[in-house]
Amino acid sequence: MVTMTTEQGASSTSRTPAQALDSLIRGNARFMSEESAHPRQDGARRELMTTGQRPFAVVLACSDSRVPVEIIFDQGLGDIFVIRTAGEITDLSVLASLEFAVVGLGVPLVVVLGHESCGAVMAAQNALETGEMPSGFQRVLVEKVTPSLLAARAEGGESAEDFERHHVIEIAAHIVDRSPQILNGLREGTVGVVGMRYRLSDGLTEPVVTYGTAIEGVPAGDLS
Ligand SMILES: [Zn+2]
Repeated sequence: MVTMTTEQGASSTSRTPAQALDSLIRGNARFMSEESAHPRQDGARRELMTTGQRPFAVVLACSDSRVPVEIIFDQGLGDIFVIRTAGEITDLSVLASLEFAVVGLGVPLVVVLGHESCGAVMAAQNALETGEMPSGFQRVLVEKVTPSLLAARAEGGESAEDFERHHVIEIAAHIVDRSPQILNGLREGTVGVVGMRYRLSDGLTEPVVTYGTAIEGVPAGDLS
């Protein structure tokens, strides 16, 4: 049986949600400018990580092969706890993994990461427009993404970008709504939740919604 340790790596220091977000934003800037540092990926780091992990962010991202989380944020071993599903959709297993990261590992930042040209969003858009559902379990993708598209349309959104941004906003809101442990962390100021959309075209991870940590010009999610 595989067990997951909550023991914490000796080299890591505690970060606030804002500091964790800053680390991701700075890493993404390095990646965008083709100046990635590929930090903490050497043998010494690998050896240190045998004693435990203390990642500073948990990222729920789309499984799309063009959105590799550690690469686009230029991070290393033990830095990011990553969960990936097509369309960054959630279920109980995803919520359990998020709470393991936040409560079990003390991660201060939750990131929901959607992206440009997302196939899951396109599939839901296609189903809405044609009335045809995909076969097999793929219909779950459509079922879980469609409410985001309806929310986008209710606000006048029609473009793929509108749908992708709203989907990230909806998933972030869903996580805050469904997880009392994450909500508690938000209210205590120990946890932040940020929704981002990754642009395939230029590599930017653009914040679209934030809870518990302020970003200038980015709407704050409602905690009430
Ligand atoms: Zn996708």
